[in-house]
Amino acid sequence: MPIAVAETISELRTITAEARAAGKRIALVPTMGALHAGHLALVHRASTIADVVIVSIFINPLQFGPSEDIDRYPRTLPDDLAQLEPFGIAAVFAPPVTEMYPSGASDTRVTAGRIGSLYEGRTRAGHFDGVLTVVSKLLNIARPDVVLFGQKDAQQVFLVKRMIIDLDLPIEVDVVPTVREDDGLALSSRNRFLDAKEKRAARGLSLALEAAESSADRGIDAVLAAAQSVLMGEHLVELDYLVIVDPGTFLPVDDGYQGRAVVLVAARVGTTRLIDNEEIFLTGVHS
Ligand code: AMP
Repeated sequence: MPIAVAETISELRTITAEARAAGKRIALVPTMGALHAGHLALVHRASTIADVVIVSIFINPLQFGPSEDIDRYPRTLPDDLAQLEPFGIAAVFAPPVTEMYPSGASDTRVTAGRIGSLYEGRTRAGHFDGVLTVVSKLLNIARPDVVLFGQKDAQQVFLVKRMIIDLDLPIEVDVVPTVREDDGLALSSRNRFLDAKEKRAARGLSLALEAAESSADRGIDAVLAAAQSVLMGEHLVELDYLVIVDPGTFLPVDDGYQGRAVVLVAARVGTTRLIDNEEIFLTGVHS
């Protein structure tokens, strides 16, 4: 049976209301489409923890800045539906922009606060306000029991979890590990913009994270130096930021910090902006 595609809020609400009335546990997987194995890992995981899976496909204009070309974002709905077919999901929610923002971009925003203006948010002003606004709309529309996100977007995960706590939303968040190519490159809808040379260079991000991890017992400076030296060897990679954060606060770790930490990296490769991250365990004291 072809997947049901709901294009309106009321169509989706009918599907989820029926599921809820039948006592089913509902999972929502928010995406912007151009699906790849990373997204499918979320869908697979959703199908193991819920009875009814909804995948949303919506390219949210609010999270794109004026200098970011939203028209360039890949749109591949027929292929996305074909990839979702084997998972037996209940529905795809693929609303047009006018359904989500009937009076143009709404004035009301969920603000991501201070952490929302760091790292990704520094380069992409307003990005996380746009993300949190659309995620809260999607959560209110689908009213899932659980919502799934990829660790690939670590700052997004942190901010969504915090929004759910701060706004008392009765929804669980399930985080799925980053799916990578064999050579380590994190899967991303944007990878399709990389030519062969750029793709080789883009591996530098995951190699830098591996180098960081291998130095985790030698202190923060050594971790950063190890990652930086890998990135400096890739002349096609233009580094935006490389930072080690405390997963509890998402603020940069202080000198001497020990324990779980996340290394975040973002870079431009050609015209394509890529991000990646890796959790490490800092034990070291430098010499
Ligand atoms: P996007 O379509 O880029 O907004 O991504 C939708 C969801 O898929 C987000 O929760 C992402 O973190 C997640 N995702 C994207 N790429 C990957 C990946 N390589 N591994 C795991 N999750 C991913």
